[in-house]
Amino acid sequence: MWRRGAAALLAVLVVLGSGWAGYALSLKQGLQALRLESSHRLDLFASAVEGVVKRLEHVPATIQLNPEVLALLRSPSRQDRVDAVNIYLRRLNAHLGSLAVFVLDERGVVLSSSNADKGDDSLVGEDLAFRPYFLEALSGRVGRHFAIGAKSREPGYFVSHPIRDGARVVGVATIKISLEPIEATWDMLGAPALLADLNQVVILSSQPEWRYTALTALTVDQRVDLQMSRLFDNLRIERFPLQVQLSIDTDSQVLEGVLPGGQSGRPRAGSGGSSDMLVLGRALDGMDWRLLIFSSLRGVQNQALLHAMLLAIAAGFVLLLALYLNQRRRILRQKLDTQRMLRQANVDLEQKVNRRTRALSETNTRLRHEVAERQQAEQTLRAAQDELVHAGKMAVLGQLATGITHELTQPLGAIRTLSGNASEFLRRGDLKAVAGNLGIVARLADQMGSIIEPLKGFARKSAAVPAATDVAHALGNALFLYDQRLRKEQVEVRRHCRPGQAIAWCDPNRLEQVLINLVGNAIDAMADAPVKVLTLDIAEAPPGEPALARAPHGELRLQVRDSGAGFTEAQRLRLFEPFFTTKDAGVGLGLGLAISRDIVREFGGEIEAERPAEGGALFTVRLPCAPGSPAASPATGTDDAD
Ligand code: ADP
Repeated sequence: MWRRGAAALLAVLVVLGSGWAGYALSLKQGLQALRLESSHRLDLFASAVEGVVKRLEHVPATIQLNPEVLALLRSPSRQDRVDAVNIYLRRLNAHLGSLAVFVLDERGVVLSSSNADKGDDSLVGEDLAFRPYFLEALSGRVGRHFAIGAKSREPGYFVSHPIRDGARVVGVATIKISLEPIEATWDMLGAPALLADLNQVVILSSQPEWRYTALTALTVDQRVDLQMSRLFDNLRIERFPLQVQLSIDTDSQVLEGVLPGGQSGRPRAGSGGSSDMLVLGRALDGMDWRLLIFSSLRGVQNQALLHAMLLAIAAGFVLLLALYLNQRRRILRQKLDTQRMLRQANVDLEQKVNRRTRALSETNTRLRHEVAERQQAEQTLRAAQDELVHAGKMAVLGQLATGITHELTQPLGAIRTLSGNASEFLRRGDLKAVAGNLGIVARLADQMGSIIEPLKGFARKSAAVPAATDVAHALGNALFLYDQRLRKEQVEVRRHCRPGQAIAWCDPNRLEQVLINLVGNAIDAMADAPVKVLTLDIAEAPPGEPALARAPHGELRLQVRDSGAGFTEAQRLRLFEPFFTTKDAGVGLGLGLAISRDIVREFGGEIEAERPAEGGALFTVRLPCAPGSPAASPATGTDDAD
């Protein structure tokens, strides 16, 4: 954050610095150009001034060449000589275009003048001995200076020359040159300017209010001199209105300074407010005059400001460009980084996917292996189960063996007796009796066959194959096997079940095994019971009870009820556990109900045990109906009772 702030500050500093540098440089260059231009104009103006002044400077020297002048000086009282010189001077003046030409005697009194005929304006008789130009000429030198006319009050440039009579100075010839042509050339400078004399008093200026003011403070001596020489008549010389510090170099040639704006006085008429000014000056060749030009710096400053602004804008633009390029570079770098990271992420992802795929395929192989193992285990289990079921069957058969043996003993004995009788009848030749006996034997053999037939099917070791199975038929087979025992134990069998009434979808052989188990257990339970009733019902599924999951064609229920001892609730919960038995060792294995439940569940059915309120036990076998079988309905009345 602070870095951004510092960068912003730096940018602002750079912009300001550029603006400042632009301003300084432009100002310097502008000043240089202005200085050059001003000094060029000064040169031009100076030569114009010199042209005006020097054109006539030599004239006084030539006046003494006129013999009439010398003659006048020798005898000044002679009017004719005065007139003659007056005429000469008037003509000369008219010819030269000067303001006046006059001759003074050695006391400083005007003897003759070009304006002698001008009445009151005539200089003749004027005592001008106080003028410096007179004193200079009297000393044998050329006198020249600016002064306001003593009589005419008209300003002009006076140049005087001694008039010698032999070696002696007898008089002074003077010309007064008009400075008006200079006034007309101010415009040439294009800026306020002034012309100052030896005393630093402004004698001419483009600004009228500057005239007759002193650029430097006049010393007392100077004031006295001015008073005495009356160069400026009796005008009071004020101080120049602007605070200009004149620095004059050793050659008195160039002076220069800067005038701050906002000073009193008007540097230039109509300049519309004051501004800083460049003051440039130079001395005029061979003269004590000094020319000063005041050039406004406004243009230069404005231009410098413009350049400053342009440079600041340019710097700002360059900074923005740099910022933009930097930003672009950063974005590009970020983009490249992102692409690189993306590529890397891609590579990582691919590696990860490869790793995962490898792991998955390994897991897959392992799972397949496990599935195969499980299938193998299932097959083994199924085989073991089949073996167990078969063992269960064998156990039941073992239990049934006594009864069956007893059943077979009777017909077998009868057959033996009948066959013995038959051979006796044959020996007697009683074929009719033999045929009768053989008929009975055949009937008895059929009877034995019918006893053995269910056992054959039951004892067969076969895989469970579901088929439409008549429950009544299976029940009949089971009861038949226990026939002898039921009778012996005097059990009343109430069978409410007709053949074809209930057709289940299961293996008939296995269903028989289940029923043999249930009936056997019931007979066992009723061994000591005073009332021995075995009830067999086909019942409907009570409403609201969850149906079997694998019974698309409905469900039928077979109920096996006995009036035996029953079981406790704790026993009920454990009845179907393998090896749970309450019977004596060697009598029961405790596998009958466990195997029965497995068999019924294999066909999608269920077997449940209840403790009826009236006592005894109730086992319900729930089975899926065979497809297309009529819905099972409880049989009304007792179909079969023993
Ligand atoms: P086992 O008959 O060899 O004992 P089961 O699995 O057929 O094995 O029976 C387990 C136990 O369930 C029996 O020992 C008996 O206690 C009880 N049981 C089974 N059927 C009945 C029944 N109808 N009445 C009372 N108890 C029964």
